[in-house]
Parts: sequence; structure tokens; C-alpha cells
Amino acid sequence: MTFRTGYIAIVGRPNVGKSTLLNHLIGQKVSITSRKAQTTRHRITGIRSDEGAQYIFVDTPGFQMQHQSALNRVMNRTVTQSLSDVDVALFVIEALRFDARDEKVLALLPRDHPVVLVINKIDTVGNKALLLPFIEKVSAAFPFAAVIPVSARKAEQLTDLLLEIQRHLPEGEPVYGEDEITDRSERFLAAEIVREKVFRLSGDEIPYSVSVEIEKFETVGNLRRIFAAIIVDKDSQKPILIGKKGEKLKEIGTQARLDMEKLFDGKVYLEVWVKVKGGWADDERAVKSLGYE
Ligand code: GDP
Ligand code: MG
Repeated sequence: MTFRTGYIAIVGRPNVGKSTLLNHLIGQKVSITSRKAQTTRHRITGIRSDEGAQYIFVDTPGFQMQHQSALNRVMNRTVTQSLSDVDVALFVIEALRFDARDEKVLALLPRDHPVVLVINKIDTVGNKALLLPFIEKVSAAFPFAAVIPVSARKAEQLTDLLLEIQRHLPEGEPVYGEDEITDRSERFLAAEIVREKVFRLSGDEIPYSVSVEIEKFETVGNLRRIFAAIIVDKDSQKPILIGKKGEKLKEIGTQARLDMEKLFDGKVYLEVWVKVKGGWADDERAVKSLGYE
């Protein structure tokens, strides 16, 4: 049997479930998810190795048009770049929803390699009869290689999706080791996990510009000691994240630590605090210094 290896970009507007899909395709949480747009800010690679193929998935930030901050400009560049050098693209949309934001991403899809239309969140569709006309409508807009309805959250139809992808991967030896699941460092993943908890546990008063910096990361045997600063824009956001008697921050720390222990498969000692750095999302240099490409 020939072995296949290739790169697969996952694209779509914010919130359609791209990162959830990636995590379920590789069976580990390497890309953080939340209800908030702007959750994914980086190009994240997730690797799945099967008997006959190695899939190197590239999760991308959702394409953002509303705000023209330096952070958004950098994120949009990342999407366009990651589409240009892959073997297959997955264009993810939500079942029964196709709006102007989806159209904007559709316009960026490559014409020179296969694009699979992934219709996600089919678990939310009560009347499945509505899916067929929806599929027909969206299929008319682009020459998709295939259309696969899935539920990323419930891990439904993902085998079909993998088979379809495999057909389009080029022959080639694996690039990564069998047990590698991402090319990102533990330090990076730790920062992302803390940011996910901030996104999930805070309301709209905490804006997308929140960032996390790992100030120290030490490994002693099977114990990881991690010191993380949550960076906010304004003084007024600090007490919100800390909460009454420090309870919010404590909850963020506890949930983040549990996720890290699962992902790193070892004990974690985690310290988290809040720091104020004004206006960083609008400053291209500060965006770079925090690790955004
Ligand atoms: P992204 O912005 O495209 O990366 O989207 P996320 O993966 O962060 O997911 C956005 C939201 O949609 C989260 O609240 C997910 O739990 C939810 N979601 C993702 N996939 C599914 C799905 O298959 N079914 C349902 N009901 N919700 C989903
Ligand atoms: Mg995402």
C-alpha cells in the first residue's frame, strides 16, 4: 500500500467549529475553542497518523473583516498564506447557514487544489430534509471536490471526512513522528489553554484583545511548573478577571491546569496573574512580540 502525507487547511468564518473539528480529528485538544469570535489567533498545526496516511492539519484564525486592528491584519494574512501551500482545503460552514461572511471566505478558496465543503453542526438540525436543498445551493457556488456533513462536537461522520481527504493527499513518507500531535511547543499550548479559560469564563466585558504570556516554564521530572500572565488593555479589566476574593482567577487557573495535565500527561503546578499593558492589539510591534506571526 502507498503511504500518503499531506497538508490540509481548515478555513471558514469565525465560530463555525474549525478548531473543534481539528481537535476531534486528531483526538487531542491542540486548538482552543469558545463561543467567542477571535478565539483562534494563530496558525495551529495538528497531526494525525494512521496506518496509510499522515494528515497535517492547519487550523486558521477565522477571517475577520469588522475591525482593522494590527492583530486582525496579521490574522487575515495568516489565512491567505496557509491556503496557498496545502494539498487540500476544508471549507467549513454551519448547517443551514451561509451568509456574507462565508461568501468572503469562499472568494479566497484556491482553484488549483481540491476543496472539500464541510457542513458542520448537523447535530443542531432537527429536520434533516432541509439539508439537501442547502447543500445544493452552496455547491452551486464553487466546484467542491466533495461535500461532507459532520458534527465536530459529537465526532460524527469524521471517518467519512478522513477517507475523502486521504484520496486527495499526495504519496509521501510521514513528516512527523507517529506520536506527534502538533508542531507547537508546550509553552505555546499552555498559554493557549489559559487564554481559552479566560474566553470561556468571562463575559463580553473582557474583549478579544486579552493575551497570555508564559513568563516561566520549568520541567522537573514529570512535573511542569508554569507561570502565566494574562495581559489586558485597561486597568478596569483587571478586577473583572480576578473576581470577588480572587475566585474568577482561581477558576481560570484550576480549569487550565486540569487541561494541561491531560494534554501533557503529567502533573502541573500553575500560577496565573493579571497584568495591564495598554493598547497592545493596535500596535503591530507588540502583536509581534507576543508571538503572532
Ligand atoms: P472556530 O472559530 O471556527 O474555530 O469555532 P470553534 O471550534 O471555536 O467553535 C465555536 C463554537 O461552536 C463552540 O462553542 C463549539 O463548541 C461549537 N461547535 C463546534 N462544533 C460543533 C458541532 O458540531 N455542533 C455544535 N452544536 N456546536 C459545535
Ligand atoms: Mg478556531
